[in-house]
Amino acid sequence: MDIFALKPLIICALIFVPLERLLALHPQQKILRKSLGIDVIYALLNSFILKVVMILVAASAASLAGLLVPERLGPIVSGQATWLQIVEIIIIADLGVYAAHRAFHAIPALWKFHAIHHSIDELDWLATFRAHPVDQIITKSVSLLPILFLGFSTEAIAIYFLIYTGHALLLHANVRMNFGPLKWLIASPQFHRWHHADHREAYDKNFASQLSIIDALLGTFHVPGSALPEKYGVDEPVPTSYLGQIGYPFLRRNQERANAAVGTPASDA
Ligand SMILES: [Zn+2]
Repeated sequence: MDIFALKPLIICALIFVPLERLLALHPQQKILRKSLGIDVIYALLNSFILKVVMILVAASAASLAGLLVPERLGPIVSGQATWLQIVEIIIIADLGVYAAHRAFHAIPALWKFHAIHHSIDELDWLATFRAHPVDQIITKSVSLLPILFLGFSTEAIAIYFLIYTGHALLLHANVRMNFGPLKWLIASPQFHRWHHADHREAYDKNFASQLSIIDALLGTFHVPGSALPEKYGVDEPVPTSYLGQIGYPFLRRNQERANAAVGTPASDA
């Protein structure tokens, strides 16, 4: 059994490595870049974690839906045309992603988890997977629980996952791609590169994962013309090893507590 989803990862590589060579935004960026091995570990382990999370979220949704959702709602929702269900899922899930993502930026204790994803300084398709499991579990729960709760069909959810995954990989890929006026509606690679920019004016912008219109409506949209960021990553010292990154949010909190106990301010250096 392919519990770590190695085959889908190979298929993604077969699609995105040639695409990045064809449409390279930074042609000098190497395929075998630094931290590649860590991102492969994230890709394989996150896939396993996601499966576990989905099982738990689905079980929670089933028990909650039985208590709170009228019995007739599920058949009405799943009885709609599949394409309409997919559109509805994208809207509902991305509102959840936006809310969770914004919280991860706004709340310092949550940011320590999300800083792992922002520690990427060379964006490519594989970097998509670099996310702390706590970040992934909370974001997926917030965005997917309503979907399962409302009773969308398995087929629509499966197609949504394919679209979501392909879109997420494209957003991080080393590709030069603008969506023209559609950038106001659909998240583009340029839109998401500005989210990862280490530029003060771009901090806490572009939270949506698929629908940039959510940011446009809520005042967090930042895509200045056709410009692209010069620098990605974070200024804080995120460890470069996998285990160091997994422990980072907890160690930092312990260090800050210890500093507070002796009256020393926590250092970001
Ligand atoms: Zn972020």
